[in-house]
Amino acid sequence: TTSSNIKVIVRVRPRILPREANSPILIQMGSDGRTTTLLPKNMANSSPSDSKSFQFDHCLWSVRSTDDNYKSQRDTFELVGKDIIQHTLAGFNTCILAYGQTGSGKSYTMMGSNEDEDQQGIIPQSCKELWDQVQQLQNIRKRFHLKVSYFEIYNEQVHDLLASNSESRVKLKVRENPQTGPYVEGLTEFQITKLEDFNKYLKMGDVNRTVAQTKMNDNSSRSHAVFSINLKIREFGINLDGVESSSDSFSETEDYIKETNSSLRLVDLAGSERVTSTGATGVRMKEGTNINKSLTTLGRVILSLSDRGDGPNNNSVASKPPYRDSVLTWLLKENLGGNSKTVMVACISPCDYEETLSTLRYATLTQKVRLVARANIDEIQHHNNI
Ligand code: ADP
Ligand code: MG
Repeated sequence: TTSSNIKVIVRVRPRILPREANSPILIQMGSDGRTTTLLPKNMANSSPSDSKSFQFDHCLWSVRSTDDNYKSQRDTFELVGKDIIQHTLAGFNTCILAYGQTGSGKSYTMMGSNEDEDQQGIIPQSCKELWDQVQQLQNIRKRFHLKVSYFEIYNEQVHDLLASNSESRVKLKVRENPQTGPYVEGLTEFQITKLEDFNKYLKMGDVNRTVAQTKMNDNSSRSHAVFSINLKIREFGINLDGVESSSDSFSETEDYIKETNSSLRLVDLAGSERVTSTGATGVRMKEGTNINKSLTTLGRVILSLSDRGDGPNNNSVASKPPYRDSVLTWLLKENLGGNSKTVMVACISPCDYEETLSTLRYATLTQKVRLVARANIDEIQHHNNI
């Protein structure tokens, strides 16, 4: 087992919104690549000592592509995703979460833009890296099996984004397996047999998401999207030369000597801004409170977990993380406080004081969460094939 904290990375996007064009940039990032400073809201009436500095695992400056320390989509993947892919291949459960207010760059960071190869986000780059690695590692005694699923949590309900009838928004149930933890019952899974399959299912899911949202007069800021990749690796005591190839499912009766299982979850969270009372009534109000429920529960879970230290104020007995209080935290239980290697990318806009401060504080707390991960490897003791 390996023990490590949730890694936290902060990324600041360019001035994009019309109202930002003439606003001062309130963020500075240190040359160490680890310090983010939030300048005072009203610089004319404050002293530099009103600035607030925070330390993170990495701070990514993506404000102007001409700046020396500018971090591109590729750089972001190198710093956020590369290690996670290695851990996934080694059999660990892994997770990358994007957190931040609406418009802060979560979807750009996770998905990016499809049109331009250079603009691909962490998800398509992770798919490619995983695929390339698997091709290299595959050999006559080792086979890989990849599956994907894609769902969103909206209004505390799980919707399958890859279901053929996804327009009807069938609501799925969350259940718990005593060995592997909470899961979505009846979720569609597709096997990946070539690199392009990833893109196909990502697109399918995004189309379903958009269609459903248009129907409900909504946008993605209110839902949490979770794209999962499951990887199974089997090693055999015999050479597989000439044995039917790996594009089929693994068979139950196959005589393998070692099996590794891992899951990579890529999560684009709902906007973290406080839901304001701008005329929200009825259905909208309920959505608001429920989205708050998943995100506020996430906050409570992180607060509880960040407080479990071994110091004199150890609180571990007093507070039990309230995973079950929301669908999001229930499903991400292992990734938030258990057997997982997890990274949070906290996205911030360059000109927004209040929400940015709130995100930086949240990110600071998240860094204190400790995870104890072990590779999910089964070695078969009795086999006759060597
Ligand atoms: P969120 O998903 O957090 O609501 P988006 O990812 O949709 O935010 O970003 C808001 C807008 O800013 C989009 O038009 C997006 O293309 C743009 N944007 C976000 N981050 C960057 C970045 N690092 N570089 C260039 N454009 C960005
Ligand atoms: Mg988004």
